[in-house]
Amino acid sequence: MDIESLTQDNLPEMAEIWQQTLNWQPTNFQFQQFQKLYELIIEGNRQLNLTRITAPAEFWEKHLWDSLRGIAPKQEFIPGIEQSKRIIDIGTGAGFPGVPIGLIFPNSQVTLLDSTGKKIAFLETILSALAMKNGKTLLGRAEEIGQQRQHRENYDVAVIRAVSNVSVCAEYALPLVKKGGLAVIYRGSWSEAENESLETAVSQLGGEIELIEEFTTPLSQSMRHCLYLGKVANTPISFPRGVGIPTQKPI
Ligand code: SAM
Repeated sequence: MDIESLTQDNLPEMAEIWQQTLNWQPTNFQFQQFQKLYELIIEGNRQLNLTRITAPAEFWEKHLWDSLRGIAPKQEFIPGIEQSKRIIDIGTGAGFPGVPIGLIFPNSQVTLLDSTGKKIAFLETILSALAMKNGKTLLGRAEEIGQQRQHRENYDVAVIRAVSNVSVCAEYALPLVKKGGLAVIYRGSWSEAENESLETAVSQLGGEIELIEEFTTPLSQSMRHCLYLGKVANTPISFPRGVGIPTQKPI
């Protein structure tokens, strides 16, 4: 199926691609939830500038498929993710990748963190419209949340997509992850220079690079990378640094 032939009505027909690329298929209920999520995002976009990705095919590929590609095939890295794991999506925006992840792992608890109040308010309406009981929102800055006792080193998995450069993403994510847990940084392109800055940051934050995976998206063949960072030691208390410092002076 090509992009041009996709319409809002045939999103459910993407089953074959799910199967080929992720060796997984949504249930009928999950299809319906994805469809509803799409409609809610389009509706929300009329008032809020949530996302530029609104065409059905693009939404399917860049929001749904991309969100799940980072985590669904990685069950060997995240043993038992389908069972009562605590997951945090940092800088979730309109709910990606956290909402699709929450929809396919209903037994895991997904915290959707963003610093923008209007996005958090919108996500509240999404969670309630989808009856997604395993999701909750959190308004705040990752730099502050990462220093709060109830959140620091309290998550099995942190996911972060399109928030900042790689060492900033690592500084936001690793303090929130428990020892033995995993941070997943979603990226488009990736370079050798970034590899070096990631290594420097990760070693200071109590992490180690487990895997950098390169792949292309199934419809537009766009380049993607996912960085899987294991949490191997406690993060020194000096991280994350104060609000704005990680972006002004990346590690
Ligand atoms: N992750 C979503 C996605 O991939 O579609 C949204 C990406 S959007 C470009 C970046 C989001 O990160 C914005 O909603 C912004 O409010 C949030 N953000 C940026 N810095 C943040 C911080 N320090 N703490 C929490 N949220 C932050």
